[in-house]
Amino acid sequence: MADATTNPEQQSKPARALKPRTQKPELIEQFQHIKFLDCNKPVGRVIFECWHCQQGIISESRGEPIMGEFKGRPSITLVNVECPNCGKTAIKLSTAEVLSTTAIPSPWKK
Ligand SMILES: [Zn+2]
Repeated sequence: MADATTNPEQQSKPARALKPRTQKPELIEQFQHIKFLDCNKPVGRVIFECWHCQQGIISESRGEPIMGEFKGRPSITLVNVECPNCGKTAIKLSTAEVLSTTAIPSPWKK
């Protein structure tokens, strides 16, 4: 019963090519203009555009970001800044306190 097939069949397999990764998830990336001023001062200022309506906004903020907890992990607590124009959350800032929010003409719009 010496019927040992010594033929290695490793190379006879039909090479199944890796599926080309054509199924990219459609990432709709949205960018937000933001500019930090006076980072080295007790009260910092940040200019940004509302995420929703692109209203230009300047905010004064104070303090170090507060470490909170998110799903059991330490995470920086973000302060929601409400847009004076549309009333939605314009941006989330990692700061302790937002002192003021003022609508301004967006410096990024012409
Ligand atoms: Zn807005």
